[in-house]
Amino acid sequence: MTTETITVSTDQRLAVIDITGQVTQVIPEDADGTVTIFSEHTTTGVTINESEGRLLNDFETALSELISDTGWAHDEIDDNADSHVRSMLLGPSETVPVSNGDLQLGTWQSILLIECDGPRSRTIQIATLSV
Ligand code: ZN
Repeated sequence: MTTETITVSTDQRLAVIDITGQVTQVIPEDADGTVTIFSEHTTTGVTINESEGRLLNDFETALSELISDTGWAHDEIDDNADSHVRSMLLGPSETVPVSNGDLQLGTWQSILLIECDGPRSRTIQIATLSV
């Protein structure tokens, strides 16, 4: 297994960012197996969906409307419970098949990082398991 990290700088509190290009750059050229994209944080998510600008805004709107900004117990500590709850629903990782170094994503699929408590610098592990 090879593990690389990528760094993603975010510029809003809630943002959906297409990281497919950055992920692709660190996958070994001859890899055949799987790639796991794993965020090391408790207020981000990783998911796979279509990277269309208006849709990315729709995802942000949906997460904002589904999860209340206020009224959480954890807010007494550091005022970001909404970010943790959004992250919990999304999950920290995705695994994608890889063939000859190429991600085997569907035509309309991209790897999306969801920032729920930005702006911050985020570290994402890209772990390639070749078989
Ligand atoms: Zn917190």
